[in-house]
Amino acid sequence: MAFAGHSIKYRFMLLIVLVAMPIAFFDVYHENQEMQRSTIKVSEDLMRSTDTVVGKVQDIIESSHDLLVGLAVVDQISGGDRQACSRLLHKVGVRYSKYTNFSVVNQDKYIICSSGPLPKPVHVANSPNINEAFATKAFAISPFKFGVLSGKPILVFSEPLLDQNNKVVGAINNGLSLTWLGEYFASVVTLTDEHIVVFDDKGVVLASYPEGHFQEGSVVKDASLIELVGQQGSGTGNFTHRDNIEMMAAYGGIPNIPGGAHVVSFASLDVLQSDMLVNLYRRLAVISLLTILSLILVWGGVRVLLLNPIDRLVASAEALAQGNLKVRSDVANETSELGRLGLAFDQMAEALAARTEAVEETKQALRQSEAKLRAIFQSTNVTALISTDAMGNLVTWNPGAEKIFGYSEKEILGQPVSRLVPEQFKEAHNAGLNRAANTRVYHIIGKTVEMTGLHKDGREFPLTLSLGVWDVGAQKYFSAVINDITERKQAEKKIHQLAYTDPYTGMPNEAFFLERLNENIDQNNQGFVASVELSGIGDIIGTFGLEAAELIIYQTGKRLREQLNSQSVVARTGERLFKIVFISNDPSEVVHLAAIANRFFQIACDSFELMGSSVFVNVSMGVSIIDPRESTAKSILTDVEISHHEAKNSITSSLVFFEKSIKKQLVRSTQIVARLHSAIENKEFQLYYQPQFNLKTNTIIGCEALIRWPEKTQGWISPAEFIPIAEKSGRIEEITTWTVDEASRAAASWIAETGLKLRVGVNISAEELDSQEFLHYVTKFIETSKLPPELLEIEITETAIMKDVAMATSNLRKIHDMGISIAIDDFGTGQASLAYLKNFPINRLKIDQSFVKSALTNKTDQHIIASIVNLAHLLDMEVIAEGVEVEEHIALLVALGCDDVQGFYLARPMPEDQFVKFVKSF
Ligand code: C2E
Ligand code: CA
Ligand code: CA
Repeated sequence: MAFAGHSIKYRFMLLIVLVAMPIAFFDVYHENQEMQRSTIKVSEDLMRSTDTVVGKVQDIIESSHDLLVGLAVVDQISGGDRQACSRLLHKVGVRYSKYTNFSVVNQDKYIICSSGPLPKPVHVANSPNINEAFATKAFAISPFKFGVLSGKPILVFSEPLLDQNNKVVGAINNGLSLTWLGEYFASVVTLTDEHIVVFDDKGVVLASYPEGHFQEGSVVKDASLIELVGQQGSGTGNFTHRDNIEMMAAYGGIPNIPGGAHVVSFASLDVLQSDMLVNLYRRLAVISLLTILSLILVWGGVRVLLLNPIDRLVASAEALAQGNLKVRSDVANETSELGRLGLAFDQMAEALAARTEAVEETKQALRQSEAKLRAIFQSTNVTALISTDAMGNLVTWNPGAEKIFGYSEKEILGQPVSRLVPEQFKEAHNAGLNRAANTRVYHIIGKTVEMTGLHKDGREFPLTLSLGVWDVGAQKYFSAVINDITERKQAEKKIHQLAYTDPYTGMPNEAFFLERLNENIDQNNQGFVASVELSGIGDIIGTFGLEAAELIIYQTGKRLREQLNSQSVVARTGERLFKIVFISNDPSEVVHLAAIANRFFQIACDSFELMGSSVFVNVSMGVSIIDPRESTAKSILTDVEISHHEAKNSITSSLVFFEKSIKKQLVRSTQIVARLHSAIENKEFQLYYQPQFNLKTNTIIGCEALIRWPEKTQGWISPAEFIPIAEKSGRIEEITTWTVDEASRAAASWIAETGLKLRVGVNISAEELDSQEFLHYVTKFIETSKLPPELLEIEITETAIMKDVAMATSNLRKIHDMGISIAIDDFGTGQASLAYLKNFPINRLKIDQSFVKSALTNKTDQHIIASIVNLAHLLDMEVIAEGVEVEEHIALLVALGCDDVQGFYLARPMPEDQFVKFVKSF
C-alpha cells in the first residue's frame, strides 16, 4: 500500500481531496455546459430584445395610424377651421406626449394647424410621407429623420384627409420622437452589457442603448456589423466591435419604414464568457472553500474524534512499548469501535502488566534463588560444590572445592574428576563412572558416602560426598557436595577418646572397659574380669594431703596397666575403682589365670613411697574367671561384683575369686535383710546371757548379753551373720536399743531376785559409737533406767573405735562420765595402736578368743596375752579372756594374770530364766 507509511491525517486529507476533485471536475463540466446553454440563451435573449423593439415600433406605428385615422374624421380637423384644429391638436399633443407634433396640411400641402405654435403656414411639399399619403390616399410613413425643431430623430406619419368624393383634401400628420425608444430599451435589456442600437440602411444611428454608446446621427463604423445586418430579415451572429471585441448580436428590421430601420441588440461575448468564468471561478472558489472548510471541519472532527484518541492510544501503546505498564488508553468505553479498541488495549495492558508482574516476580524469585545459590555456591569455602558432565569432566568448581582440593577453578575446569581420586581408588572410581554412564543406574545418588580424596599437593584426606544427577536435554550432569572431614575424623577420634578415657588418669574408662568386655565375650575369649578397689585412702589424705591420694590412684592404675598384654585392658571406673579384662589365648597361661589375677592384686597392694615413708592402702579385689561356654558380659560383671563385695567385707586387703557359694551367701544375706524388718516389728529376738567369772574370787561377776534370732523356717540365725547385715542395712540401731533396754531390765530384775549386782555387757556396733542419736539415747536411758549405770557395760571393737577416733573418744568419754563401763571387744585383732588406749576411758579389755584358743600351743600368743594383761593393768584396766573352752585355759590365764574369763567351759549363753537359775545354783 502506497500510503502505508503516511500518517492517518494525510490519508484523510487525500480522501477529502479525492472527494472534492470530482465535484470540481463536475462543476467545470457543468459550467462549460452552462456556458453553451448561456450562449444559446443569450442569443435568444438578444433575439427577444430585438423582436420586442421591432414589435414595439410596429405597435406604435399601428397605434399612430389608428390615432390619425380617428382624428382625420373629426370636423375640427377636416372642417378647415384652423383655430378649432389647432385647439384640438394642442389637446391631443398634450394627451400623447411621445409624439413631438401633430399637424394638419391642406390640399396644397401647407400646414394649416398644429399642436404646437405655428407662426405662419409652412409649406411641406417635399415631405415624402405627405406626398405618399396624397398619392396613395393611404397611411404613409416617413423615413427616420431628425426633427426640424427638436433635432431629435423622429418618424412622421401621415393620413390623408378625404372628402366625400374620396378626394384628397389634406393630410394629418404626427411626428414620433425616437428618444423614448432609447428609454424603452432600458426596459427591454435583460443581459448585463446588452446593447441595442437602431440604425438605417446608411448606418446612421437613430437610437442606442446605453445612451451615448452610439452617437445618434453618427454612422456605424463596425463593418462586420453592417455586413451582418445587410442581409435582410432577422437573425443572430457575431461581429467585431470597435477594439476587436467579439460581440454576439440579434438583428431584425422594422418593415414599412422607408430608408430601413435595423434593430440590433448585442452583447460582448468576452464579457459574457468572463461572466461565466467569474461564475465558474466563484463556484470553484466556493467549492475550494467548502473543500477547505470541510477539510478543516473534517480535520478538526477527525482530530477530536479520531486522531486525538488514536494519538492517545498510540502514545499509550508507545509508552507501553517502552515499558510503562501502568499506562492506560484513556479512551476506553463500550460504545465506539475506538472505545472498544481502548478497552481492548487497557485489557491488554492490564494483562501485560499482570503477566509482566508475574514474570517479574518469577524473575525476581529466580534471581533471588540464583543469587542465593550463587551466594551459597561462592560463599562456602568449606564445602566443595562441583559438577561434571557425563564423561566425568569438571564443569563447575567453587571456592570450597579450591580450598579442599588445592586446585584453582582455572586449572581444574575441563579436567577429569578422577584427578581428585587417589591412585588406589582410581580404577574403582572410573568403573563406577562408566557403569553409571552406561546403565544409568546410580547407586550412590542421594546418599552421603565417605571416601578418600587427593589434594593437589598429593596429600590424601577423608571426605564425604553426596552425589546428584541432573539432565540438560539429553546430556547428563553429575553434581557433588564434598566436605573435607579430616577435622571431623580427628574430632571423632577425640570424642572417642573422651568417651572412652578417664580424664583424670588418661586411662580407659568404664565405657571402654565394657566395650572390650563385650568384644571378648562375643569372641569366646578366655581370661578373667576383675574389680579392684582402694580403701583407707581417707587416712592418707589426712596425713599426706589430697595430692598423695591422687598419686596413689594414678600409680595403682599405672602398675595394673604394666601387667597387661595387648588384648587386655585396665579401666578406671570409679573414684578408687578399677576394672580389668584380662584376656589370654595362650593355653599354658590360661591354666594360671588365678595366679595372674593374684599378681595384679599383689601389685596393687604394694606400698607407696610418700614423703620418705612407705604407705599401704587396703585393696579389695573380686575376680571372676571367664567361662567361654557360659559367661555373658552381664553374668560375669555380676560375679565380679559379688566376689568384690565379698572381698570388701574384709577389713584388711582381700582378694576373692568368684565361687557359686559366695553367690549363695549373697542370696542368703539378701533374704535376711528382707526378714529383719518383720523380725524387729514382731519382736522375734531374744537375749541370752553368758556368765563371766572372776579368776581370783571364783565368782560370777556379770554376763554378756548375746542376741538370738529363732527364725521360723531356717532355725537359729547366728548374730555373727545377721548383725553385720543389720549394720549394713541400717537396722542395727533398733536392735541395739532393744538389747540395751532388755538387758538393763533383766539386770535390774536380777538384783531383786538374787540380791546380786551383776554387770551386764551389751555389744555396740561401730555405727552407734559414731552416732549422736545413740548418745542421746544412752543419756535418756540412764535417767530413766532402774539399773545403776556401773552395772551396764558396752562392748566395742577396736575397729569401731579406729573408724573415727575423735568422735569415738568424745562419745566414749561422755558415756563413761555417765558411769557406764566400757570394754574393748575382740582385743588384739584390730589395728588399734596401743598408744591410743591411754586416751580412751576404757575399763576393760576382752582378749579375743583366737589368742586363747591357740595360747595352749603357741608361745607367741601366750606372750601377747601376757603383754595385753600387763599393759591393761598398767593403764588401770581389767582384762577378761573370751573363748575359754577347756580347763587348761583357766590355768594358763590365771598364770598369765588375767582377771576374768568367759567361755563354754564355764557356761554357754543361756536364756534369762536359766541364767538366773545358774547364778542361784553357782
Ligand atoms: P562376741 O561379742 O565376741 O561374742 C562372743 C561370742 O563367742 C558369742 O557368739 C558366744 O556364744 C561365743 N562363745 C562364748 N564362749 C565361747 C567358747 O568357749 N568357745 C567358742 N567357740 N565360742 C564361745 P555369738 O553369740 O554367736 O555371737 C557372735 C558375735 O555376734 C558376738 O561376738 C558379737 O560380736 C555379736 N553379737 C552377739 N550378740 C550381739 C548383740 O546383742 N549385739 C551386737 N551388736 N552384737 C552381738
Ligand atoms: Ca562381745
Ligand atoms: Ca568377743
